[in-house]
Amino acid sequence: MAKKQFKTESKRLLELMINSIYTNSDIFLRELISNASDALDKRYYLSLTGQVSKVSQKDLQIEIIPDIVNRTLTISDTGIGMTQEELEKNLGTIAKSGSAEFREQLEKSPKNIDIIGQFGVGFYSGFIVAKKITVDTLSALGDQAYTWVSSGEDGYTITPSERTTVGTTITLELKEDTEEEKYGKYLEESTIRSLVKKYSDYVRYPIQMDVEKSIPDPTDENKSILTKEKETLNSMIPIWKKNKKKITEEEYNEFYQGKFNDWKEPLKVIHTNVEGNLNYTALLFIPSQAPYNFYNTDYEYGLQLYSKGVFIMDHAKDLLPECYRFINGLVDSDDLNLNISREILQQDRQVRALASSLEKKIHNALEDMLKNEREKYEQFFEIFASTIKYDIYKSFGTSASKLQDLLMYRSSAEGKYVTLKEYTERMPESQKEIYYASGDTVAEIERMPSLAKLRDKNYEVLYFTDKIDEFVISMMQGYEGKNFRSVNKGDLDLDGEEEKKEREEKAKENQDMLGAMKEALGDKVREVRLSSRLKEDPAILVADEGMSIEMEMILSQDPQNRGMIKAVKILELNPDHELFRTLRTIYQKDPDKLKEYANILYDQACLIEGLTIEDPISYARKIAELMIEANH
Ligand code: ADP
Repeated sequence: MAKKQFKTESKRLLELMINSIYTNSDIFLRELISNASDALDKRYYLSLTGQVSKVSQKDLQIEIIPDIVNRTLTISDTGIGMTQEELEKNLGTIAKSGSAEFREQLEKSPKNIDIIGQFGVGFYSGFIVAKKITVDTLSALGDQAYTWVSSGEDGYTITPSERTTVGTTITLELKEDTEEEKYGKYLEESTIRSLVKKYSDYVRYPIQMDVEKSIPDPTDENKSILTKEKETLNSMIPIWKKNKKKITEEEYNEFYQGKFNDWKEPLKVIHTNVEGNLNYTALLFIPSQAPYNFYNTDYEYGLQLYSKGVFIMDHAKDLLPECYRFINGLVDSDDLNLNISREILQQDRQVRALASSLEKKIHNALEDMLKNEREKYEQFFEIFASTIKYDIYKSFGTSASKLQDLLMYRSSAEGKYVTLKEYTERMPESQKEIYYASGDTVAEIERMPSLAKLRDKNYEVLYFTDKIDEFVISMMQGYEGKNFRSVNKGDLDLDGEEEKKEREEKAKENQDMLGAMKEALGDKVREVRLSSRLKEDPAILVADEGMSIEMEMILSQDPQNRGMIKAVKILELNPDHELFRTLRTIYQKDPDKLKEYANILYDQACLIEGLTIEDPISYARKIAELMIEANH
């Protein structure tokens, strides 16, 4: 039979993978056992729901057979098996879930094994230790068995097989031992025992192996003889059914990493047992990194649904609100109907109750983390804040009351994270609004001219460094009765009565000059006025109420919006600045020059805001002229 080549990209991937992940060869066993366990889950579920012929729980098992003579390790299961098409589809394409992306990541960091599972190459990890893999399988849904054979990079063959029992047998022909790696160790009882204990203890099906036992010699009671006896290597108690107090952090971590294909330990474990109208156990994990495809539309939720210990489905999207879609884990309830299908999931009353209870649990766990494990919460927030923020935005603020206390921002108070609650609690009495400033980085915001006066008054400013931040609060009706106020928008109203009066008088005195400057700038600004927010800088561009300049810049990144979306701008001058006096003198002496200066100031203010200036060449020429004049 002709050899088939692995699908596009696969060959190269396989080579990359095998050469890059030898640092932890052990994981292949965990991956293969995990696949076997999934296959058993599927068969049992389909048998319970009558889709395949009945199978009894005791016939569902995994067997490990080391063969020292032939140097093969066999992992055999009585699971669902694979049809010819499935063999082709599942084992003919490596990294189905995103080969190009996978290769990219692997080439970027070849030692980064966490990408293996993430990309669905679990099965292929067999090639880390094997030079040849044979998969013999009969599907419970088909009637012809098949054998798939591959020696790795040079493709695979699929041929009909004589097999008559449903299930899959995977035989690994181990590689020769090398200086660095003794593959032969995977045939030793002690190695297999410890790997199963370490990575697969929780698997709910027996993982059996013939082990050597010494028994008393029936012919001579002083002697013993060695025999082989089947032993179940794993404890089979699903970790989530164990007593919480008896589970170590390491056990949780290993369970998580094995089941959810994450090389990193989880950031937080939420293990909860709920009894009442609805009974369920949930074992949930917050990952310590976002999955590679977390922001893709094809990202699938990492929540599994079990009923009475029986696996029902993967990616149970309807059980998690979108804002918590970073959760990986499982829910096991005694009250769910086994026949529940993905389609009716949403309508099922029990499922809805379960979803809402889960949401509360997750929410409470996050609040609890915020309160008692601040550092960890901040870590969480840095990874997953955007999902929470996006939810508030997308719901037009309706989810704000639920989620707003999970938000935090860096602020002018030491640049540390502060929650809205903490912010409002420490506001001085005279402060009426919540101030924020938007920019790309904390460093950039810290240097903003408009922060100076607020600093003097001891008013804290939230730093919005996430592009979505301003959009989010635009959907919120303030926080606890306090409005959000951009330091670069509208009238900050920072002056006391006296200062205000003084400024108004000054404005009146300079009305003509301000008018002349506005005229010089035309439509570029709505107004030129005196500023109450500036201290050291001569001028600033602010937005009127409504859209901010930051928002204009973000929205203009979409070519469709370019030139269409504009914040209403105001040029503010600092009346206490030396330059203001100069402007007055010029206005008296040379009104034409004032026009030119107005344009220079406007351009400078644009640059400070990060806006591009309309005519950089004229701007540069004008500055050059000024330099010459100044030195005449
Ligand atoms: P993943 O398990 O992440 O989907 P794998 O490469 O490990 O990726 O396996 C690919 C697919 O092959 C599985 O999703 C499953 O459908 C099938 N498969 C693998 N091992 C078995 C098995 N022992 N029994 C039945 N199907 C299997």
